Amino acid sequence: MTRTVHVIGAGLAGLAAAVRLAARGTQVVVHEAAGQAGGRCRSYHDPALDMVIDNGNHLLLSANHAALSYLSAIGAADGLVGPPEADFAFMDLATRERWRLRINAGPLPWWIFDRTRRVPGTTARDYLAFASLLFAREHKTICETVRCEGALYERLARPLWIAALNTDPREASAALAGTLIRETLAKGGKACRPLIARDGLGAVLVAPALKFLGARGVEVRFGHRLRALARTERLATTLDFGEDKIALGEADGVILAVPPVVAADLLPGLSTPSEFRAIVNAHFRLPPPASLAPITGVVNGTVEWLFSFPDRLSVTISAADRLLDAPREALAQQIWDDVATIAQLPRALPPWQIVRERRATFAATPAENAKRPGTETAWRNLFLAGDWTRTGLPATIEGAIRSGQRAADLIG
Ligand SMILES: Cc1cc2nc3c(=O)[nH]c(=O)nc-3n(C[C@H](O)[C@H](O)[C@H](O)COP(=O)(O)OP(=O)(O)OC[C@H]3O[C@@H](n4cnc5c(N)ncnc54)[C@H](O)[C@@H]3O)c2cc1C
Repeated sequence: MTRTVHVIGAGLAGLAAAVRLAARGTQVVVHEAAGQAGGRCRSYHDPALDMVIDNGNHLLLSANHAALSYLSAIGAADGLVGPPEADFAFMDLATRERWRLRINAGPLPWWIFDRTRRVPGTTARDYLAFASLLFAREHKTICETVRCEGALYERLARPLWIAALNTDPREASAALAGTLIRETLAKGGKACRPLIARDGLGAVLVAPALKFLGARGVEVRFGHRLRALARTERLATTLDFGEDKIALGEADGVILAVPPVVAADLLPGLSTPSEFRAIVNAHFRLPPPASLAPITGVVNGTVEWLFSFPDRLSVTISAADRLLDAPREALAQQIWDDVATIAQLPRALPPWQIVRERRATFAATPAENAKRPGTETAWRNLFLAGDWTRTGLPATIEGAIRSGQRAADLIG
């Protein structure tokens, strides 16, 4: 009897699971509720700008080994681009200072002793104090663990943590921040190179995976929303899609790679994160000035990170729940005012679009982090995947991909 693994959800966790299984020759069917794959990491044609944009700018780092292995497997490794070194441009909008953070490649952090490489107004000792995050207790927040004031905090740590955890450091988990430091800064600049999907998230992270799956006979059924999951005490038995139902054979398996709210609905009693934080992205259609860095970190502005693409400028604002109800036009102008200052452009607003993802990620607080379930469930043919499962990382592409790969490995 042929064995089939059903992957529910074609976000990056589901795609990573399906890719790993298909590469091994396992028969896989992917069921996706939406009309396209990618989930929270997708590209689409925006009518206001008349161009294909990403729902949000997604930054990866060279330390993201699972994401890089997934891209290699689907033949898209060269779609991620970035500078040869860990080199980040910054601007402080309050003082108009500009600087570059340049982390040396090896694990010995001599860059912190070099004034031209570190953040202006900081000393080497400031950086060493952040090492205590490496030993942080699970229930502590970042600001209960390290001093959250001063130039290093305002100009580097806060922007990095808000971006990586999508949660204000005053309430964000110190343990998650510690894992990030362990996987990136503690390994040196070679692990901190910023990488972005040059031709868009869809073209780099999603379409090649669908092509890879298609070539191996994997069916991806769009508009196929799982509505219920019948179970006995130890086994999942039937997948209920409303119009059709799939009875699971004895050897079949299921990887549930849906968002936490959906998983909790399908499996009542499952512990999942239930608090979320928003991300706001603004996109402006115009060719950027050649002198602008590909990515600029911004301090003391509404804008937090400015991304320069060949045909547009895009802004990311994390933990942005305060902006969810702001009138769109006024918000676009407020964001553009910052961009115009950073990029030295006229104040007149170019064609724009604002994308507000209300539930962009779970809130990376110690309490929410503690609610994350592992990959295995009480049902031996049912496994969980998703950036919200217990990956040890905040909700990121790397976490989503690791979770999918782990579920595929455990399902065997
Ligand atoms: C604006 C924004 C910016 C971000 N920036 C970054 C960044 O810079 N770097 C980074 O690493 N990460 C970033 N992230 C986080 C990253 O996008 C996510 O961690 C990752 O995409 C999550 O993937 P996932 O597969 O776990 O979940 P999802 O992408 O949510 O996938 C779940 C899938 O399940 C489907 N589904 C739901 N219900 C059902 C059902 N009943 N039946 C079948 N299918 C169903 C959904 O349609 C979806 O396709 C960002 C996220 C957002 C929103």
